[in-house]
Amino acid sequence: MKKNENQCEECLKEISSDYIVINNKKICFQCAGLLVKKEEENEKNSLIIKKLPTPKEIKHELDKYIVGQEYAKKVVSVGVYNHYKRIKLGVKGGIEKSNILLFGPTGVGKTLIARTLAQILDVPFSISDATSLTEAGYVGEDVENILLRLIISSDFDLERAKVGICYIDEIDKIGSKNAGNPSITRDVSGEGVQQALLKILEGTIANIPPYGGRKHPEQKYIQLDTTNILFIAGGAFNSIDQIIKERMDKTTIGFKSDNLDKDDFDRMILKKVEHRDFINFGMIPEFIGRFPIIAPLFELTHEELVKILYEPENSIIKQYEKLLLLDGKKLEFTDGALDFIAKKAEEKKTGARGLKSIIESYMLDIMFEIPERDDIKVVKVTEKDLKEFFKNG
Ligand code: ADP
Repeated sequence: MKKNENQCEECLKEISSDYIVINNKKICFQCAGLLVKKEEENEKNSLIIKKLPTPKEIKHELDKYIVGQEYAKKVVSVGVYNHYKRIKLGVKGGIEKSNILLFGPTGVGKTLIARTLAQILDVPFSISDATSLTEAGYVGEDVENILLRLIISSDFDLERAKVGICYIDEIDKIGSKNAGNPSITRDVSGEGVQQALLKILEGTIANIPPYGGRKHPEQKYIQLDTTNILFIAGGAFNSIDQIIKERMDKTTIGFKSDNLDKDDFDRMILKKVEHRDFINFGMIPEFIGRFPIIAPLFELTHEELVKILYEPENSIIKQYEKLLLLDGKKLEFTDGALDFIAKKAEEKKTGARGLKSIIESYMLDIMFEIPERDDIKVVKVTEKDLKEFFKNG
């Protein structure tokens, strides 16, 4: 094809007046302006995301704080890497926005993973609860409040907020309650919230009421481009395993489970989750489609609960050890004590959340007494002590 001498090599339109040459390309003034702007934009983003760790490095950092959940940690490491790579290189179309959906029981690390990712990447982070949101015109919060929290967390540095991470909890609670049963009226408000979230999840210039609450026509809004914000949604999605199993029974003929024990089998099922399972659960297709990356988190095992007590860099026990060290005392938990605490947490069925409240209630008396006890140098906590303390529940 013969090149038109007066054609801009960027937009391919005819160049009517002057042109400039960039990288040996003849370019019209309009395109030149856009190119410079794009470059500036990339530079800004590169400054904010200083050094982008590789997926392996991200996973390695996550490992320091999150016990178990190997599969979810791997999936999010790759997802987050791709998301920020895309921003850093200023890729506009072509690569899908990589919002992440984490599902699994309460207290197993969903929020912790999201928060730790923000720490690793040194970007602003906010947590919102989907159940407090409503669609416009109802009592409750506008979806833009999610973004307001992010802006606050960035100290009103909008450039940083633009590449932050928003965690939205309890996303399953805005599913339609009567999915799969068309004869019952649909849960309109939940669906309305999903609809309201679509735009900001996809990328839009959002108008945010600076004082929270509801939008007012006379109010001035903060404008924030949500294109590069990473949204991580979390939810329990109880019984989604049943939905997956039902689908698989229909589509796969006798998939093998002979050599898997029950836990491994359950985990294998959850890893097979697909977008349509969430649609069957009651999420609208457009909404769930905005989360290309989905990862299950699993119930924590007894061993994992024990590890959570002492292994992570900021584990509860390490924190108490440090506190006591400031008073010149050494704190020790016997293996039996750790075992006891983990078992007690298991009974509560709130994942690792139970661990903290158990230790806190036991440590209260010690923390109250110990600073005045010069005679004690080592505080040793045994299973017997704990049994005695918790004998009434
Ligand atoms: P959820 O899955 O409900 O979002 P969180 O991530 O908020 O649960 O976990 C609650 C607390 O329990 C965390 O702050 C953390 O201390 C602890 N925790 C939960 N899961 C893990 C885990 N896998 N590794 C280490 N700590 C964990």
